[in-house]
Parts: sequence; structure tokens; C-alpha cells
Amino acid sequence: MRQQKRWETIQLLLRRGADPNASGVPPHLLFFAVKAADAEAVKLLLERGARTDVCLPSKVGGLTPLHIAVSIPGEEGVQITQYLLHSAPDLNARADDGNEIYGPDKTQAREANLTGGVTLQLRNEAGPPQEYFSSYSGPVTEEGERTALHIACQREDNSERARDVIHLLLMNHANPNILWSGHSPLSLAIASGNDLAVVELLKHGADPNLTLSGAVRSALCAAVSTVYEQQRTTAQRIALVDKLLEAGADILAPVTLREGQRKAVGTPVDYAYYKYYQDRRIAHTPYHILSASEQEVFQTRRSLLEHITAKLRERVILKEKEWDREELRRSKKLDSAVPRRDSKKKGGSHRVEEVRLPYFKYCYQCGHSVGVQLSPCMRCHEVFTCSVTCRSKSWNEQHRQECSGLLEKSTGQAALDASSAACKKNVTGKKGENVREGKDQRRAGRKSKVGIGGREHHRKND
Ligand SMILES: [Zn+2]
Ligand SMILES: [Zn+2]
Repeated sequence: MRQQKRWETIQLLLRRGADPNASGVPPHLLFFAVKAADAEAVKLLLERGARTDVCLPSKVGGLTPLHIAVSIPGEEGVQITQYLLHSAPDLNARADDGNEIYGPDKTQAREANLTGGVTLQLRNEAGPPQEYFSSYSGPVTEEGERTALHIACQREDNSERARDVIHLLLMNHANPNILWSGHSPLSLAIASGNDLAVVELLKHGADPNLTLSGAVRSALCAAVSTVYEQQRTTAQRIALVDKLLEAGADILAPVTLREGQRKAVGTPVDYAYYKYYQDRRIAHTPYHILSASEQEVFQTRRSLLEHITAKLRERVILKEKEWDREELRRSKKLDSAVPRRDSKKKGGSHRVEEVRLPYFKYCYQCGHSVGVQLSPCMRCHEVFTCSVTCRSKSWNEQHRQECSGLLEKSTGQAALDASSAACKKNVTGKKGENVREGKDQRRAGRKSKVGIGGREHHRKND
């Protein structure tokens, strides 16, 4: 009631020609109107020339009227933001809260301290070779205080209204690629569960591969982190990951993980496991001991992990198709081979300097690339697994077909490559001799490929 009275007075004064920028002690009148979510008053003040480039004292965050407007729930927030935008304020104006940490990340840090224990045995893994990911070539990320866009993306009150506000900001060219508290507007929208905002941001130039500097390293990491999971159902989490991938998020982009003094570079999939294992209760308790709701959480997390692992695998396979398959297989085999005593003697005088392709080593079944010991499939040497479980699972679920298929293909390829009559003779064998024969042929194929491979390599570089 009192507020109502006060506004009536202010409006009356303004209509009579009072100066809307008169302010002996800040804040300015405009702040009162914005804070009261009074769209009409804001409109009136702006019409009378109220300035929008004013800000609150730094002890209360140094916010501008726009910062406050974009956080107002409901239709009024959209309306007031629109009025403010008409008077062209500095859209990327920063508040005075650079040291502040995004709320949910504070609890995350606290929980990590509490659990304390080692979640992954980091072994200084170097991460995917550069050939596997698209290196970032966008603008250098600006880090600092909150912009109005950050605030709008943090909102958890009403996804649609928040999206409308975000739309207005982006249409007026607010920069979607600047950081606050290590977050981009996109990662904040992901963390706050606003998928409408995610779509809006991606549509207006938010870079899904922007390197973040806080609790999460990229938008994909935010999407797979357990910290922000309660905002979405399993299906929604999976859909979000797919949306980001469709928009060009790189599932092979390197992500640095740290545990005490140790560190390793992995992928967003490793990051997802890293977060998963931090919750010891869900990750390490036998399933039947978990409560019904915990079982649900467990299921959700496992489904997401399986989904992103499948996406990672798809991506690696697609990437590796760009290279000479036989050459890649040879590189993998050379690296995984245990050096034999007589190999030196055999190599002797005609030892050839092998060109090894850099390749990404990860578990073909579970997707781990850090904190695991990977061993190759002894038949094809094309894929690696991290455990007996993963090996047999992968064999039963998909690799059985692929692996024998590979053997056939590689023998066929070897036959094509080697034009010598000796090699041709080898392919006419019977089915029963398949394995032994495959080995012979591969050996023959390899010999001929060393020469050809070298030439091919140069040709590719031309
Ligand atoms: Zn595995
Ligand atoms: Zn195999």
C-alpha cells in the first residue's frame, strides 16, 4: 500500500517535470521502479530521460537496472527488459561480482572436499591427439563479472519467461560467449535446467565448444555433470547432450581432470565418469542396497554414461575413417606389441622407420580413456578395452561381428594392395584356414604397405 502511494507520488512528480536522474544518494529512481517490477513506472521514467547506465554501489554488487530487470519473474520482467533495451544500454555491462561463485558450484566444491577420496587413478594421460578434435578458433574468452545475459540464464523460476528475456538480449546483440564464475551463459542455462534458453543461445551464436574455466570445462561437461542433474529427467538429459552434439559440441575435445597433485587429460566422457564416481554412495553401493530413489538415480546416470560412450565411439570411428585403416591398425599394433627379444635381430639391416599415426586410445566398451589400463583386441588390434568385463561385453554386444569383419576386410585390402603374385596366391585358401591365413596375409600386406604407405603419405600431404 505504501509502495503504491509512493509510486503515485513519483509518477505525479515526473509528469510535472521532475528530473528522473536526480539522486542525491544513489540509487537512482529507475532502480526503485525496476525493483518494484513496475513496468509502467519504468516506461515513464525512461520517457522522461532516466539514464540506464547507472549502477548500484559495488558493495551491493554494482548491478545496473538491466541486471535487475532480467531477473524479474513473470511477464513484467520481459516488458521491463524490453523498455530498457529501447534506450540502448550497454548490454555487456558487467556487475561488480567477479569473485562470486555460482551457487550450485559452491556445494559441489564442498562435497568434493567431503568425499575426499580418489575417484580415478589419473596417470598423466595426454588426451586425444589433436587430429581427433576441432581445435578452438573462436574469439578469446573474456572472463569477469556477470552480464545481464548470465543472470537471465541462471534463472530457475520460469523457463519460458527467462527464454523470452534471453531472446531479447541476444536480438540486441548481447555477447553469449563471455564468462562469469567460469561459466558461459550456455553452461548456466544447462546448469539451471532451462532447455529453451539452451536452444535460444545456440541459435544466436553461443559456442558449444567454448572453454570454460570453473567447475565445468565445457558445455558438454555441464550437461553430463551429476551436479546439475536434478533439473532434468533421463530422457531430457540425453536429449540435451544430443542437442549440443548437433550444434557442433566436440565429444573429443580435451578435458583436464585433476585429483590432488595428479592430473590427466581426457574427454567429456571421462569427466562424466569422474563426477559419477565422486558420489560414492550411488557408484559403489550394491544395487539392491540402494533405496528406490537411489536406484532411479543410478539408472539415470548409467543410461547417460552409456549414451555418451556410444556417441564417443561413433565419433572416433567416423574420424578414423578419414585415415588409412591399415596404417592406423599397424600403428595401434606397434604400440601395443610387447617388444620381443629377437625382434631386433630380425629387423637387422633392413629395419624400416615406421610411420605411426597418432591415435586415440580409449575403452571401446565403456569409453574411459583416463585412469584405466587398456589392452588391445588380440585379433584385430583395432580396439582397446579396460577390463575383462568390458572385453567380453564388447565382444558379445558388437565387436564379435566387427572383428571378424575387419579380418576379412583387412585381408581383402592387403590382397588389393599387394599386386605381387605371391600375395594373390594366399587369398585362394579355404575357410577353415581363415585365422592362420589372415595372419600370413596381413604380414604380406604389411610388407608391401611400408613402401606404398610412404608414398601415400606424401601424396596426402600435397
Ligand atoms: Zn571399459
Ligand atoms: Zn577385434
